[in-house]
Formats: sequence, structure tokens, C-alpha cells
Amino acid sequence: MVGLLADKRAVVTGAAQGIGLAIATELTAHGAKVALIDLDAKRAGEAAAQLGADAIGIGADVTSEEDMRAAADAVVGAWGGLDIWVNNAGVTRDASLRKMTLADFELVIDVHLRGSWLGVREAAAIMRGKGGSIINLSSMSGKIGNPGQTNYSAAKAGIVGLTKAAAKELAHHGVRVNAVAPGLIRTPMTAAMSAEAFAATEATIPMRRAGEPREVAGVVAFLASDLAGYVTGTVTEVSGGRGM
Ligand code: NAP
Repeated sequence: MVGLLADKRAVVTGAAQGIGLAIATELTAHGAKVALIDLDAKRAGEAAAQLGADAIGIGADVTSEEDMRAAADAVVGAWGGLDIWVNNAGVTRDASLRKMTLADFELVIDVHLRGSWLGVREAAAIMRGKGGSIINLSSMSGKIGNPGQTNYSAAKAGIVGLTKAAAKELAHHGVRVNAVAPGLIRTPMTAAMSAEAFAATEATIPMRRAGEPREVAGVVAFLASDLAGYVTGTVTEVSGGRGM
């Protein structure tokens, strides 16, 4: 739908590739201006350049309070406000409990949970009273638990609690907060899986296939838009039926 997000100003974290880039692409296609945040400023800038004049790239680490504040300030400075903030940046450090190090646990918790909390706090500070939509990337791993992902499943379940608590705090200030829980999606993150593990997971999905990043992006665009104006505190599963 052309113009669905016309005049909206958006931030997407972890947007240089994968689902984040697909979300930035989808939001731009619907008329939004988008700031693509990623760890590597050069990759963020290159990704933004692909999307044209309505996109800017910003280098920032989502675990850094200073970086997130500076990114939010840069967006407000450029566009005068903010309507949509998507906390998407993520990493995995999969290992069994026997092999997972504390550093593996802490990195994954930091990027997903601390990063999303910092993003929600920045977005809320700008949107409170003016309105807006915040979308956090959870995962089916946070609902069903995946062996080898005690760090990631914990972080993604934590994002659901963060989403609901923030939704209740911000609802009467005009800010909606929702989460999206993808299942198995074809991105650089899942390209690290062995072909056997990927196929075995696909076989458990009722739709019998992995999802594409744009299939997550479409749901995010809906939640970002006024079509979802009465939707807050939800977790939308984008999983081909996995985990239902
Ligand atoms: P991806 O391809 O690995 O992309 C993640 C992006 O986040 C990368 O560009 C990465 O940069 C960036 N990033 C990592 N740490 C960051 C930090 N501290 N600050 C800023 N940016 C950072 O992952 P994806 O598959 O698109 O996943 C996107 C989101 O969806 C994640 O939250 C993930 O957990 C969630 N998800 C994915 C799937 C799936 O099947 N793919 C399923 C459920 C949920 P670098 O490359 O430089 O590290």
C-alpha cells in the first residue's frame, strides 16, 4: 500500500543486513524516512544508500547508552521527531550449557535485552505525548526454548516482558509497543546453521519452509502503521505455524 507510512520517521537497529535491512526497505517502500543503525557505520551507510534519499545510515552499538542517545539525537536533529523505532539488532552465540561461556551469555543478553531496553527508553522519551510505534524483535526461541540457546531464548523471552511492561506504561501517552517473534528466517544469522540442522528445523514447520526477511518486514510495517492503531502489548508470531 503506497503511502501507508508517508511522513513517518523511523529508526531500525541492526539494519545493515538480514531482517533489519528488509524492514528498512519495507518501511521506505511505504513512504517512511528511515535511519539504519548498525555497529559498522560504513555498512550502515552503504545499506542506506541502496534505499535512496529517504534513508540515512548511523554507526552505533545498541549496548552503548551514549551511542543510542547520540543516534536518537541525530534522527531528531535531522527530521524533527520520530514515529517508529524497531529494535532488531541481534547476535547468536549458540552452545550447550556444558560449553557456553559466561561471555557468550552476557554478549547475547546485552545486545538483545539491554539493547532493546535502551532503544525503548530513547524512543519513549521522544514519542511520549506525541504518539508512535515501537517494535521489538523477539523470537519463537523465546517462547518454546531451543537447546543450545539458553542465552538467546532467555533474552528473547525477556524482550516479551519488556514489550508488555513498556506497552502498559506508554499506552496512555499515545505510544504503542509490540513484539514480533519470527521462526526460522533465511538470513546471514541462520546461514551459520549446518544444512542438516536447517532442513531438520524446516521439517518441523507446518508450512514446511523457512521464512524470508520480507515476510517479517511486512508484519513490522503493519504494526508500525495506523492500521494497527488499537494494537499494543502483543507478540505476533511470524513462523509458518511453528510453535503454535
Ligand atoms: P543478522 O543477519 O545477523 O543481522 C543482525 C544485524 O545486527 C547485523 O548487521 C549485526 O551487525 C547487527 N548488530 C549486532 N550487534 C549489534 C550491536 N551491538 N549494535 C548494532 N548492531 C548490531 O540477523 P537477522 O537474522 O537478520 O536477525 C535480526 C533480528 O531478528 C535479531 O534480533 C534476531 O535475533 C531476530 N530473529 C531472527 C531469526 C532468524 O531466523 N534469522 C529468527 C527469530 C528472530 P554485525 O554483522 O556487524 O554483527
